[in-house]
Amino acid sequence: MVEGAPYCCNDGCEVVGHQKDFKVCPRCKIARYCSDACQKQDWTAGGHKGTCGTYVSLGKDKHIL
Ligand SMILES: [Zn+2]
Ligand SMILES: [Zn+2]
Repeated sequence: MVEGAPYCCNDGCEVVGHQKDFKVCPRCKIARYCSDACQKQDWTAGGHKGTCGTYVSLGKDKHIL
């Protein structure tokens, strides 16, 4: 992955763009989404609801993504 080219963490969404255009999950501040809709979708259907806490504890290692 090229740093500086973030992608949307929502499964199935392949939007890639400049980081400032992406929202980060307010809890883990690691998962990035292109829109509120993608964040909500990944939170429920994508399972981020279960992995968010893991991201928080592993926040120092951003290579997990
Ligand atoms: Zn998206
Ligand atoms: Zn999160």
